[in-house]
This record gives sequence, C-alpha cells and structure tokens, in this order.
Amino acid sequence: MKNELIERFTSYVKIDTQSDESSDTCPSTEGQWELLRMLVEELKEIGMEEVTIDENGYVMATLPSNTDKEVPTIGFLAHVDTATDFTGKNVNPQIIENYDGGDITLNEALNVVMSTKDFPNLANYKGHTLITTDGTTLLGADNKAGITEIMTAMAYLIQHPEIKHGKVRVAFTPDEEIGRGPHKFDVTAFNAKYAYTVDGGPLGELEYESFNAAAAKITIKGNNIHPGSAKDKMVNSMKIAMELHNQLPAQEAPEHTEGYEGFYHLISFNGEVEQTQLYYIIRDHDREKFNQRKATIESIVQSLNEKYGNETIQLELKDQYYNMREKIEPVFEIVEIAKQAMESLDIKPVIKPIRGGTDGSQLSFMGLPTPNIFTGGENFHGKYEFISVDNMIKATKTIIEITKLFEQKA
Ligand SMILES: [Zn+2]
Repeated sequence: MKNELIERFTSYVKIDTQSDESSDTCPSTEGQWELLRMLVEELKEIGMEEVTIDENGYVMATLPSNTDKEVPTIGFLAHVDTATDFTGKNVNPQIIENYDGGDITLNEALNVVMSTKDFPNLANYKGHTLITTDGTTLLGADNKAGITEIMTAMAYLIQHPEIKHGKVRVAFTPDEEIGRGPHKFDVTAFNAKYAYTVDGGPLGELEYESFNAAAAKITIKGNNIHPGSAKDKMVNSMKIAMELHNQLPAQEAPEHTEGYEGFYHLISFNGEVEQTQLYYIIRDHDREKFNQRKATIESIVQSLNEKYGNETIQLELKDQYYNMREKIEPVFEIVEIAKQAMESLDIKPVIKPIRGGTDGSQLSFMGLPTPNIFTGGENFHGKYEFISVDNMIKATKTIIEITKLFEQKA
C-alpha cells in the first residue's frame, strides 16, 4: 500500500490546482480541471462504476454494494484545490525514509529548515516515511492526501471482494479553499445518506463541530474638505471606522481566543477621508452567541448612523456556514463509527471543535451530514507542510474500516 500511496500522491501534487477567489468560474482555475479529469480516468481504471464529471467539475463515482444486507450508502469526499495563501506551482515533493527525528533541511541553497524547535510535533514522526516540500511551495497534502487515501481505499476494496460493504459513493470537488466547495455540489445526484470529508490534519483527528460563520462588509462615507477650511464640515470616515471598531470587545479577536471562544476578526481596513471599508468575519460555535454577535455589529452601526446621519454607514451582513454539529448530533452513530474504526486500528481518536469550517459544514445543512477525518498531514497552507506516509496508510485503513463497520452494524 505504501508505494501505491506515494505514487498517487506525488502525481497529484505536481499539478498546480491553486484556487482563485477573483475568478467567477467553477472550478475557479484551469489546473483543477486537469486534476479532476485525471481522477475520472483513474477511477475508471481501478474499477469504480458510475464515474461522472459534471459541468462544474464535480467528480463522482460508485463502489457498488457486495452484501445482501440493507446498508446505508456512505460517501467520502476530498477537494482538489490548494490554498491561496502560498504558491502551489512546481511542487517538488521530497521523500525522507526512516526520519531520524532531527531538523529537516527543505532547501539547502535557500537555507529553509524545518526545525524541531519551531515544530516540536516532528517528534511524533521518528522512524516514519515523510513527504515534504523543497521549501519553495506548499505541498498540497491539503487535500491531495485525502484524494490519495480515498482512491487507494477504493482500489483496495475492489481488489478484496471478501470485505463486505454497502454502496460507497466518492466525490472529488473544486474550490474548497475559497469557501465554494459545496455551492454547486449536487447532493441529490450524490445520493448518500452520510459522508465523511477526508480533509483533517494529524493522526486520529475526527471533527464534527465547526464555527457558525458570517461576513460583514461595512462601508463608511465621509466628507473630504480642504483641511484649511474644514472646521465643522469635514467628516473623516477613517475616524468613524476606528470609533466603530473600538466599540467591539477587544478581547474577542482571533489572537485572544481558543477552544469554543468566538470572535470578531477585522480582515481588512481600507480607508481615505472620503470613504472607508471594513471587512470582518464573525465566528462562534454557539448559534445563540453567533446571532448575538451579528446583532452587536448591527446595533453599533445603528447608533453611529444616529450620531452621524443615516446614510453614513452601510452594513452588508452575510451568513457563510453553520456549525455542522446541529445536523450531526441527531445521527451521532456516524461519529461513533469513525471513532470505532480508528480504535480498531489502534489509533487514538482526537475529537475537537474546528476553529474554522469544512465542506462538511455546508454539506451537513444541505442534507448530507458530513464529519471530517484525518489525512495525516501537518502545517497546511505553507512551505513547512508535510505528511507521514505511515499515517496515510492509517487514514486509508480507517476509510476501509468505516465501510466495513457500516455493513456489520446493518
Ligand atoms: Zn482542506
């Protein structure tokens, strides 16, 4: 299984599939089409059935049931795009066999070193086979490791018909990193009862709680007058913006919060005297507190509009996704099964709330409850991204085990 995983993974990461927020197309970039089409061919090659790609690039395939039992159809999903934060062009994966636990020189010439001092987690990987970058790009383990593991698990199940399972659906999707992953996902066509995204980090990660998320775009109008004759006339929109920001609780920001604590995060502040634009994201695991946060922003805007005149501040508040826990708790057995699958492989499940969202956050509200399981990668979205092949094997086995358990429990 090891060589098969390395071969697949390194072939996927060499295709530049970085997504692009400024593009209106779906997928947002041409590179994603290239990988999606390649995956269609590979799914057919390994013997999957009903392999389809739709006009938005969503790839789906079926592993038919091989049991007489009535087993619910389950799905596994991974996204093909890589993060926008760091370049994914010319990825040149480096393989380290039997890692010695010390500092890893990613790039001798540029002196890029991943040190055990900065990355104490490296201690967990002594003796593993690791795949790293060459220090100039991200790796793309997020989420090409997930694709690799799903593909390899399906190939394994096809080659081992003695393992009984129900119908399994697989989907590879575009544009997760720009939050559009599920937007055009055809839940009806996918037709699974439950699914898992294979898009987590280190060994054992199992997630079914995400943030509730909203974005606020605030536009403040000022009035620019020559400063020499501005008395009682000039309205400086940047100062109103600061006044607005200062009314938000200073401690409720990403840099001061953790665990289940929510926040307001000022993403950008673009201002001149005449006009200022603020862009916030609002996050909270608790739906009630999330609504309160939105109400707080609304009331600050309202009070400043009363002070400066009604047209001064415009607020556009938009929900982005919700905490999937709401939709997963009523079918909690899907978390229990993933947990049990890991435990039967001697993997300790690490269950914690995500301080972010996954495709599952949106899919769960589209009628497909979708927790998230680990891929084995770390330090996503940058040049220190790496993955343990040993843990990729465990992720692949977890997928296989989950399909087995659904059959056994039916
Ligand atoms: Zn991801």
